Amino acid sequence: MIEYFHSVRLISERCKGCVSCIKRCPTEAIRIRGGKAKITESRCIDCGECIRYCPNRAKTAVTDSLADIKRYPHNVALPAPSLYSQFEAQVTVDAILCGLLSLGFDEVFDVAVGAEVVTTAIRELLQHKQVKRPLISSACPAVVRLIQVKFPELIDHLVPFEAPVEIAARMVREEYARRTGRPQDELGVWFITPCPAKLTAIRQPLGDLPSNISGAISIADIFGELRRVILQKPAAVAKCRRASWAGMGWAVAGGETEAAGVLNTLVVHEIHSISNVLEQVAMGKLKDIDYVEALACAGGCIGGPLMVENRFVAEHRMRNRLAVGKRLQPQPELPLAPEDLVQRGTLEPRPIMRLDEDISKALYKVEQMERTLERLPGLDCGSCGSPTCKALAEDIVQGQASEMDCIFKLRERVHELAKEMMGLAEKLPPSLDKKEKKGAIRDGKSKRVAGTSGRRGGSDDSGGGA
Ligand code: SF4
Ligand code: SF4
Repeated sequence: MIEYFHSVRLISERCKGCVSCIKRCPTEAIRIRGGKAKITESRCIDCGECIRYCPNRAKTAVTDSLADIKRYPHNVALPAPSLYSQFEAQVTVDAILCGLLSLGFDEVFDVAVGAEVVTTAIRELLQHKQVKRPLISSACPAVVRLIQVKFPELIDHLVPFEAPVEIAARMVREEYARRTGRPQDELGVWFITPCPAKLTAIRQPLGDLPSNISGAISIADIFGELRRVILQKPAAVAKCRRASWAGMGWAVAGGETEAAGVLNTLVVHEIHSISNVLEQVAMGKLKDIDYVEALACAGGCIGGPLMVENRFVAEHRMRNRLAVGKRLQPQPELPLAPEDLVQRGTLEPRPIMRLDEDISKALYKVEQMERTLERLPGLDCGSCGSPTCKALAEDIVQGQASEMDCIFKLRERVHELAKEMMGLAEKLPPSLDKKEKKGAIRDGKSKRVAGTSGRRGGSDDSGGGA
C-alpha cells in the first residue's frame, strides 16, 4: 500500500463534526464518522480548502520552522513571489529579501527567477513544438494532484516542466557547488511558502524525480518576525538575487500567461472552478484554447491558505508593484531555459474512483451503488457524514457506511417500526383479548347451554329412568 505524506492535518480535539469541510473538499476526501472528520489520504490533494472553511479551526498545515535551518551549516531562503504582496508598496523587494537574511539565512534567491526560466520554456514550447491543446500549467501542485486523482487522462496536457521553485532550488544548488566546491548536502534550501501543497510536493514529489528543496516554511509563521526586522534594520543587499516583474507576476492569477505572452488563454483560479473547466477539457470541448493557467487558490498564490493579508488587499499591492516594474522595464530580458534544467519527472495517475482492483467485482459494486443510490433521497445534505448521496452509496458498497446513516432512511425505518409496533400492540394475547374472550365466553355459553340441555336431557333420562 502507498504511504502518503500530507501537510494538511486534522486537529481531532477541535473538530465538532459540523460537516462544513466535507461540502468544500474538491475530491470528496473527508467523511464525518463517530462525530469527527476523517481525511482519506489517497484522495487529499492538500489544496487547503478545508483549512479555509473550518469554523472550528480544526484543520491545519504542518510546515517546517525557522529552527529547522540549524540542521545545515549553510542555508538559502527561496521566497515565493507572493511574499511581496504581504507588504505595503513602500517596503521594497530588496528590503524583504534582506529581511530574510536577518532571520538567519545565509543567502536569498528569488523564486521568481525560476518563474522567468519557465516562462521562456513555455513560450518556446507553444511556438515550436506539437503539444496537446490546451496545454495546462503545472506550477500549482494542488492542480497537478487534482489531475492525477480526478482527471488522469489529462496528464499529457500538463506543462512538462518543473515548477519555478524546483528550478530555483536546482540553480541554487548548482551555483553553490560551483562557487564553493563543497558537497550539496551541506546546503539547506528553504521555500518560503504560501501553501501546504508545496510542502507536500517537496516531501512527496509530483513526478519521479527527487526534490532539491530541504523544506518549506509558512509565510504566516515568519511574517511577524520578518516585518519586525525589516522595520528595525535592513541587512546588506549584496547576496540577494531578484527577478523582474515577469517572474514576480506569477504570484497572481493571469501573471504566468502575461509574462509568457500567450494570448489564447483561459485563466482559471479557485479549485472548484478548475474542476469544472478540467471536466470540459476532458470532454474535448476546449481544443480551440492554447493554454489553461490554473491556480487552486482564488486570485492565485496571493490567496494561499498560509498568507496573512486579505487576498484583495494582497492582489492590489502586487498589481501596483508589477505596474511600477513594467514602467521601469517594459520588456525584461528573461533567462534561457536549458532543457535539462526545466525537465520534470514522469507523472503517474493516482485515480481514486476505483471501486475494486478486480474488474468483475468493481462492475458488481457499480451496480450495487446505482441501486443503493436510487433508494437514497438525493438531497446531498451531508448529515450522514458523506458529502453527497452518491458518495454515501459508494461508502455503503465499500462497507464503510450503512443505509441507516441517512437520516431520511432512518426516519422512514423508525416510522415503519412504529407502525409495526402499533400493529403488534393491537394484538393482545388470547387471555387478554376481550373480543376473543367474549367470543370464547359466548362459545362457552353455547357449549354450556348445549351441555346443560344435555344434562337436563340426562336427568330427564335419569328421571325417566327412576
Ligand atoms: S486539503 Fe483539500 S483535498 Fe485535502 S481534505 Fe482538505 S479540502 Fe480535501
Ligand atoms: S495557487 Fe499557489 S498557494 Fe494556492 S495551492 Fe496553488 S501553488 Fe499553492
